[in-house]
Amino acid sequence: MIYLLIGLGLVAAAFGAGWWLRHRRHLPAGQEPEPRSSDNLALLRKIDRMILSNLSLDYIAQEIVNQLPSGTKLLGGTLRAIESGTGALKALGVTDSLRAAGNELSLNGLQGSILSPAQLQRHASLTAQAIDERRVVSGEQLCDFECPPLTLEQAKRIQDSLQIKGIFAYPITAADRVSGAMTFYFDRPLNHISRKDHEMMQAVTDVIGIAMENSRLINQTEDINKKLAEANTQLHRLDQTKDEFITIASHQLRSPLTAIKGYLSMLLDRDFGAVSKRQEPIFQQIMESTNEVINIINDMLSVSRINAQKFELTRVPIHLEDVIGDVLSELKPLASKKALRVALKVPKQPLGSLSFDPLRIRQVLVNFIDNAIKYTPRGYIDVELKQDGDDVVFTVSDTGIGIPKRELGRMFTKFYRAANARQLVTSGSGLGLFVARQVIEAHQGTCIMESREGRGSTFGFRIPLKVLQSGKADLPPDKVVATGVRS
Ligand code: ADP
Repeated sequence: MIYLLIGLGLVAAAFGAGWWLRHRRHLPAGQEPEPRSSDNLALLRKIDRMILSNLSLDYIAQEIVNQLPSGTKLLGGTLRAIESGTGALKALGVTDSLRAAGNELSLNGLQGSILSPAQLQRHASLTAQAIDERRVVSGEQLCDFECPPLTLEQAKRIQDSLQIKGIFAYPITAADRVSGAMTFYFDRPLNHISRKDHEMMQAVTDVIGIAMENSRLINQTEDINKKLAEANTQLHRLDQTKDEFITIASHQLRSPLTAIKGYLSMLLDRDFGAVSKRQEPIFQQIMESTNEVINIINDMLSVSRINAQKFELTRVPIHLEDVIGDVLSELKPLASKKALRVALKVPKQPLGSLSFDPLRIRQVLVNFIDNAIKYTPRGYIDVELKQDGDDVVFTVSDTGIGIPKRELGRMFTKFYRAANARQLVTSGSGLGLFVARQVIEAHQGTCIMESREGRGSTFGFRIPLKVLQSGKADLPPDKVVATGVRS
């Protein structure tokens, strides 16, 4: 019996030894089993999560290198980044367990250390060489990688104390630029570093590279945003200065122009004696040009008031029919020159006195009628004022060039002039319709625009009668309901 038991024991021992030898054969003497892929994946996922939770690498560099020993067969690592401004290489993180206690026999001295661009270029260490040559560099002497900043003496003592036996420097690249280096420290010599170890180091380096690139792009975007904000403030200031300048200049110009206009109409009315047949058309021409300049100045003044949010109405009761008649008699000579027939239609039953800002509504009427004359080479212009339901409606229809369909949406915006208008009349500010819209909306109305290219246009406005009859206190322009443009 005893022999039987000894026999069975020997057989079992032989089997056990065979199994152990078979499995042992795959590993060179003294080599550790390979790290499991799941460990590497877990590490990468952790680093990924850190990067996603905080996009600034400065904050997470230390946390990333602290993760390295977990699950992998690594002692730890150092993460270095090239500073964008100086081009120097700075150690942002060194695994805590390698710099614990902060004493002489730890890698604490690496934290925050800097290699200048010149040191990088002349390969002051193997880490610098890995960056400069954009390739993985390995070695077994800590000093080759970390002197400077460590001295040879320090490096030797630290290497012995931490049992560092194999070291790799991986350049960190992303979007085709080198942004730093990862140095990995193993407690195994180089010939014991497996393919999986390399895969893990490469994967970690790649993830960090992407994080660095993101961080660089974020910094760049922040910089651009800051510069844009500064430029915007500066532009705003310049815009204000421009508005103030326009306001002052326009006011200064308007007074002498009004005097010129006054004397001209006295001349034309023969208040200063006879005017010859040759002189009359010249005075008429001077009058038209003076009116044109006054209208442009009025539009510019209104725009600068609108920009400065100082656009307010002063409403008084007026008879709109009278103002229309007045504007027409001023502009009719322009239409006559082009042989345009101008017809005016007003309600049989007068609308009575309505509460308008007289100067501004005159400006609107001038803009609509003047445009109809300017942009109509032949045909006729119908000016109509009517009551339509509960609204007062004013329209100017012409048989002019019309507006290209694709440009209709841009009318009533500041400075916009359609291509066909620019071709026909080279001068023009593109401010008239913009001002008209502000004035009409401030009167709680809407502008009317209907147009077909080559056929003609109708411009005008519609304002609720009860708003004009009430004469109630005006709302500031920003409180006025913007009803938009009807086309
Ligand atoms: P301006 O007449 O100085 O160009 P406006 O602001 O008065 O500026 O008009 C803006 C643009 O609207 C014009 O340049 C033109 O393209 C278009 N427009 C306005 N009225 C008419 C019209 N009656 N017929 C054709 N186009 C017009």
